[in-house]
This record gives sequence, C-alpha cells and structure tokens, in this order.
Amino acid sequence: MRIVLVGPPGAGKGTQAALLAKTLSIPHVSTGDLFRANISQGTELGRLAKSIMDTGKLVPDEVTIAMVKDRLRHDDSGNGFLLDGFPRNTAQAVALDEILAEFGIALDGVLDLEVPEDEVVRRIAGRRLCRNDSGHIFHVLYNPPAVEGVCDICGGELYQRSDDSEETVRTRLEVYHTETEPIIEYYAKQGLVTTISALGKVDEVTERAIAALRENAND
Ligand code: ADP
Repeated sequence: MRIVLVGPPGAGKGTQAALLAKTLSIPHVSTGDLFRANISQGTELGRLAKSIMDTGKLVPDEVTIAMVKDRLRHDDSGNGFLLDGFPRNTAQAVALDEILAEFGIALDGVLDLEVPEDEVVRRIAGRRLCRNDSGHIFHVLYNPPAVEGVCDICGGELYQRSDDSEETVRTRLEVYHTETEPIIEYYAKQGLVTTISALGKVDEVTERAIAALRENAND
C-alpha cells in the first residue's frame, strides 16, 4: 500500500505512522525524521534544515523533494510506503505525482487525521520523544513514561523537540492552514482522501485508521 498521512502538527502522525507501518509491513518515511537524522549527523542539509525548522517554516521544496525521491528509490519502498510529513504544500504534491509516475506507481490513499486546535496545542506542549527511536513518543500527562525522562520501550533519553516551543508551534499551525491544507483538496479531486478523527486513545485511532484504509482500498 502507498499512503500519505496528513494532519496538523500534534495530530499524532508520528505515533500512528509507526504503528500503521508496522501493521501494514511498509516503511515509515517521515521527512521530519529524515531532517532530524541529518541534524544529528551534522550534515550540510541538517544545518540548513535546523535553522528553518526552529522557526516553524518549511524547508525549501527543492531539497525536500530531492531527499524524498532518493528515499523512495530504496528497495524497501517497493512494497509500498507510508509518507508522513510529505507532501506539505501543493508544489510538493505535484512533484510527488511526477516521481511516482516516473517510477510507474500511484498512491492508494491519503489519510487525513483531524483534531481540534486546542487539543493540538495541549498535545505538543507535553510531547517528549526518545533519542533512540522517533516512534517512541510520550506525553507528560496523556502517556507518561514510568520513569520521568526515560523511554519505557528502550530506556533511551526522552527530550522535547526544539520546534515544540509555543511560538514555533503557532507558526507551524499557520503554515499547516495556509500551505498544507490545500493538498487535501488536491487529493480529494483524485478521490484519494479519507478523513478520520484523531481523538481518543492511541490504539483506537490506529484501529480507525486501518479500517478506513482497508475500506478505501476496496472502493
Ligand atoms: P510535525 O508534523 O509535528 O509538524 P515534522 O517532524 O513532520 O513535525 O516536521 C518538523 C519540521 O520539519 C517542519 O516544521 C518543517 O520545518 C520541516 N519539514 C518536515 N517535512 C517537510 C516538508 N515536506 N517540506 C518542508 N519542510 C518540512
């Protein structure tokens, strides 16, 4: 299955993408994670990405598109993939269509995670990530680790993303509304969009997502 996951920052895309990718046996391709890996490796791309990510704006399309194209060439993408955080504007959506056409493949569906804005702010303010694995995601109130600052799953150190500060989150939400939301309409015209509520327990949302994707695939 080839799927794009869309939703505002804090909708739980990272959490759901990791679970869905495992259930569907397809790789989770997150542009945010790819940028963060470049940042921790100290690459040139990482330095460029960090300066932009910390403001909440988008990394330039040219570098983002090239990075995704390179990632989708990997053997492990042959069976499908779950794209998380890409495309993030119409130009990237058009570029993705071109890349897929070049590879002779097409998207099966776009899953849109819907969540009210006040909930988004609450989720992001308390979010903590594991340094070892970006799929190990906690929340100081909603999903606290047994020991503060330590990942329950692997014992890694938990940290708060530098772009999860209140001011940056405000910009990220604005960018989502003006730049990313229009791609939902773009994909709706292709009959690809399924919208589900991202409220409720993590497992409930995953079940909802799997059911929606299966139903969409059978249409
Ligand atoms: P979230 O979905 O929680 O906002 P991500 O980890 O997906 O967070 O992205 C964090 C930041 O990385 C974005 O605010 C942006 O600066 C950059 N980024 C991620 N994906 C893209 C993309 N497709 N195009 C441009 N910038 C991106």
